[in-house]
Order: sequence, then structure tokens, then C-alpha cells
Amino acid sequence: MFVNQELGSESNYDAVLIGAGVMSCTLAVLLNELDPDMRVLVVEKLHSPGLESSFALNNAGTGHAANCELNYTPVNVDGEIQVQKALEINRSFERSLEFWASMTSLGKLSPKNFLNFLPHISFVEGESDVDFLKERYEKLSRFEAFSEMDWSEDKKELQEWMPLVLEGRATNSPIAGTRIKRGTDLDFGELSIRYMNSLKNSSSVQIEFSTEVIDLRKDNKNTWNLTLKGSSEMRDVRTPFVFIGAGGGALTLLQKSKIPEGESYGGFPVSGQWLVCDKSDIAKRHSAKVYGKASFGSPPMSVPHLDTRWIKGKRSLLFGPFAGFSTKFLKNGSKLDLFGSITKTNIFSLIQAGLKNIDLVKYLINQLTQDHEERVDVLRKFIPLVDKDDWELYQAGQRVQIIKNSSQGGILKMGTEVVCSADGSLAALLGASPGASTAVTTMIEVLNRCFAEKMTTVAWQEKLKLLFPSLSKSSQKDSDSLRNLRDRNDSILGFSQSL
Ligand SMILES: Cc1cc2nc3c(=O)[nH]c(=O)nc-3n(C[C@H](O)[C@H](O)[C@H](O)COP(=O)(O)OP(=O)(O)OC[C@H]3O[C@@H](n4cnc5c(N)ncnc54)[C@H](O)[C@@H]3O)c2cc1C
Repeated sequence: MFVNQELGSESNYDAVLIGAGVMSCTLAVLLNELDPDMRVLVVEKLHSPGLESSFALNNAGTGHAANCELNYTPVNVDGEIQVQKALEINRSFERSLEFWASMTSLGKLSPKNFLNFLPHISFVEGESDVDFLKERYEKLSRFEAFSEMDWSEDKKELQEWMPLVLEGRATNSPIAGTRIKRGTDLDFGELSIRYMNSLKNSSSVQIEFSTEVIDLRKDNKNTWNLTLKGSSEMRDVRTPFVFIGAGGGALTLLQKSKIPEGESYGGFPVSGQWLVCDKSDIAKRHSAKVYGKASFGSPPMSVPHLDTRWIKGKRSLLFGPFAGFSTKFLKNGSKLDLFGSITKTNIFSLIQAGLKNIDLVKYLINQLTQDHEERVDVLRKFIPLVDKDDWELYQAGQRVQIIKNSSQGGILKMGTEVVCSADGSLAALLGASPGASTAVTTMIEVLNRCFAEKMTTVAWQEKLKLLFPSLSKSSQKDSDSLRNLRDRNDSILGFSQSL
């Protein structure tokens, strides 16, 4: 890893990226591909990339493509299933695969280090949920993006898809599943490290670890001044462009930047927890990500799922999420984070959002009072024959849900949002879901909004076409071009239909 221990007297950069999670690392690589001479500084508080939310077990590692996540096909007030969000997420994830394939072709990434293909399955029980899943299947499978979705109500077939889920299950109510074989499990922490390793020969990108950005302000020359606190000293760096990719820490820095676009935002932290099983004889009996339906009244982030994970070559099982509550915005953050983020411009939005989301508050209280036995009982609804001693609780990452002021008052948003200053000199990424899976699309949005002129130059356009051969084609409307793109991505990344 290329580490710049010494910033030296030259403290001016073309871009400073705060944080070395998957978002900033993606942006650093994209900027370097588009302009290898651009002087980029990545500043990371911890000692290595990808140790916060991007770290493998701090998230579920699902390559979110809406293959199996039922909350991406919400039902509207008329009872109709909406597919737009699922199509958008699927398109965004294909963009990530396209980028990883291009980086692999350039010899800069190796998919075996961070990506595994495995089936994505939705599984439901009970008549009304089976009806919902059937309708979802019928609507989605009409689109090329989901045309390879399988449907089954057959218990024997479902048992072949997911033996642990079916064994010992009472057979008195209807069950059903859909499956897409071309799903993924990802290690976003390892991906962050590999991205940074790919830049080790670049003389223009520097990364400074164990260094925190503690303040940022704009001077009268329209340059951002950032104060960096290392282990032994503080110093300032100057740059015309800042990306706040600080994960849960982004809101605090956005507020410090004082850009008017960031004023009304607030955040509400929800910690995740998993039950994890490392026993290899159990782990090897399940090879899929199986997503169920959130129980009535529960927030979307509570959708239960049982996942095969591959972390540094080791296979394990993960079940969750269970929620916890901490006032920290980062796992390695401070208990004062939430209180420090409350300002006179966002306090009313926070109160209004709290009052409108009593269900979330009730859900969190219920989750906080659960013990190991009760969590295992929830798991038993997924795997009936479970032994509680095979599973251990793991504290996952912090999600800071966005609270935003709107015409209806303060609202809690479940998605990810890029907040940019009007002049494009600063961008911050807030929110959590669909998160890392759509990092490439989100960072292209940052480029479009903050480097708008450069993005239209011939030089950048040519490079973009090399990295994203499909960029000029509309892959969702044109089924041939989507098939071609998938064939290309699959052959480079190693997906085999025989899975
Ligand atoms: C429980 C849970 C489950 C999830 N499951 C999935 C999933 O299955 N699939 C998916 O795609 N996404 C998932 N996500 C979301 C995903 O993890 C995040 O979207 C993604 O990791 C965010 O990356 P990031 O780079 O923005 O943040 P992070 O990975 O958190 O990186 C931010 C970095 O900034 C550093 N930093 C913070 N403040 C400062 C500062 N002041 N100065 C310097 N450095 C700083 C931090 O140390 C950290 O390294 C999940 C998240 C959670 C919490």
C-alpha cells in the first residue's frame, strides 16, 4: 500500500477525499482513471481502508440488485407492486459489475479477492405473502433484467434450493420462493483495500492513515481549507474540491462545511447486529442469500435474511439484522455524535420525523430488549432446526438514517443521498441503503455534478467509454445490449451458469 507519511510543504491538492471506505476509494480510482495527473489526497482516520461500514461483517455483503430484497418492490396505496426502484437498483449494480470487470481487464483488480456469485432467493410463508411474491415474480420477470428469475411453490424443489430453511419446517401453510442464480456476495472492505492497492504506483494519489479531518472551511479564494489531525501534529491542506465520504461521520463534516444545502439535514443512528455461524459443516449446507419479508409495521432495514458469506476465503453464515441503538454515528465514533449533530435548523425536523416514526421507535425498543434465546427464536423461523450454541452475536456497522426537511416537515429517508454545494466544490454522501452496491453509480453522479465540464471533454468521455462500454446504450430498454453487457461482465468476473 502506498502511504504518504509526510505531506511536506506542498499541501495543495486537486481533490481531497475524506474517509477510505468503499465510496471514497471508488471515487479515488475513478478520478485517477479519468485524469492520472490529478493530485488526490485520501484522508482516513483509521489505520487501513474499509474498516468502518465497508468492513465485511459490518454489512451483509449483498450485491443489492433487487433480485431478492422485497422492500425494493414496495406496494402503493392502491395495492399495486412498484417495480421502478428494483429496476434502478438492478441497473446501478450492473454498472458496478461493469466497472469491476473493466478494472479486472486492466489488471488492476481480481474479482476472486472480493466477489462470489451465489443464488439470491426470496422466501415467504402464508397465503397473502405467497400471493405478493407471485405477483412480484410475474411483474419483474417480464423485464430482461429479471428474466432468469425462477419461481417455485414446490417444497421438494425449495428444499434443494435451501435445505437448512426447509428441514424440519411445519408443512401446514403455503410457502414459495423465487431464485436468481446470478446473485453476489461481496467483501466491500477487501474491495476498498484492493482499490487503494491498485493506486500504489500512482505518484498523484496519496493516502494518509490515522489522520482525521477535524474542520473544513472555505476561504475567500474559493478554496477549501481542511484541518487534519494526525497522531502527533495538526496541519492544513487546501483544495478546490472536497468529497465527504466519511460514512456515518459525513453529517458532522457536512455541518462544519456550512454549505446552505446541508443545513436542514439531521441523522438518526441505528446499529446492526448479526447472528454468525462459523461452523464449516453447517455453513457448507447453505449456499445462497435468502431474504424474507419484514413483519408488518417493521422498518425496511429489518428485512430478515440468511446469507452465505465468504470472508478472506472462509465460508460462514450470517442471519439478521437485529437492531441496536447507540448515539455514535460510526462504530469507532463518539457517544456524543448524535447530540453534536442537533442544530437549531434541524431540531424540528428531528422531532417531527421521530413523531412520524413511532413504529421504528417501538421496533428499536423491542429489539433492544431481546436476549440470545429470543434472537435464536427469530432465526428458528428461518432455520427450524437450529442449535443456539452454533451462533454468536456480532456487532455490525452503524447506519445513520437521513432526516430531511421537506414540504411535509421532517422525514426519515431510508436511501442514500449525495448533497452538493451549488458551485460543485463539495459533495457529501449521506445515508445507508442500497449503499456500497451502488457506489459506482453514486460516484458517477458526484462526477457529473461536481466535474460537469470535465465530464463532457473528449478525453474524459473516451476514458468513460473504456471503463463503461455500455454507457451510451440504454441497457434496460434494449434487451440485447443488456444481455451483451451481462455476458461480458460474467465472462470477465467468472460467473458460470452451472452454479
Ligand atoms: C448493518 C449494515 C448492513 C449493510 N448491508 C449492506 C449490503 O448488504 N450491501 C450493500 O451494498 N451495502 C450494505 N450496507 C451499506 C454499506 O455498508 C455502506 O453503504 C458503505 O459501506 C458505505 O461506505 P462509505 O465509504 O460511505 O462509509 P464507510 O465504509 O463507513 O467509510 C467511511 C470512512 O470514513 C472514515 N472517517 C470518518 N470520519 C472521518 C474523518 N473526520 N476524517 C477522516 N476519516 C474519517 C471512517 O473511519 C471510515 O473508514 C450495510 C450497512 C450496514 C450498517
